[in-house]
Amino acid sequence: MKNLYIDFDGVILDTITPVYNLAKKLNIDVKTQTKEVGLLYSKIDWETLIEESPALNDSLDAIEKLRQSKKFNISILTHINSLKEAKSKIEFLNSIFDDLTIIPVPKSCSKTMMTQTKGAILVDDYSGNLKEWEEKEGIGVKFTKDKEDNCKYINITSLEELINLF
Ligand SMILES: [Mg+2]
Repeated sequence: MKNLYIDFDGVILDTITPVYNLAKKLNIDVKTQTKEVGLLYSKIDWETLIEESPALNDSLDAIEKLRQSKKFNISILTHINSLKEAKSKIEFLNSIFDDLTIIPVPKSCSKTMMTQTKGAILVDDYSGNLKEWEEKEGIGVKFTKDKEDNCKYINITSLEELINLF
């Protein structure tokens, strides 16, 4: 079994669109005002946000199929801005899956600092995380809503694709 780490925001749930919409309302530019965005993330009511965020391309069903394939040892590896955010994500995932490993990563730490990376797969929508992962001899897989042209990484639009890729 291959070790497989799956990002949460932008891969499992589309939590990013609601946050960016809120930022827009508050006149925060997500590209330049990173400090303000961080503050926004820490103040958000994560329980509501998770309820309002749609699953991306049937991600929850796909995770179940990945588990049934018995090809992967699956963990969710997610950056968090606050313990409240971690708790909401943990409770959400536990309400759906039994016996799943969830690793919350403090926003200021690299995902590579939290677990072994050598030969392990990371599925993430953020190229920065994939770059760090591959620098530590891991396999980076980029998740996007739609296929990306000239993607530097293996590109998938559904988690289910992993079953045939590995
Ligand atoms: Mg993400």
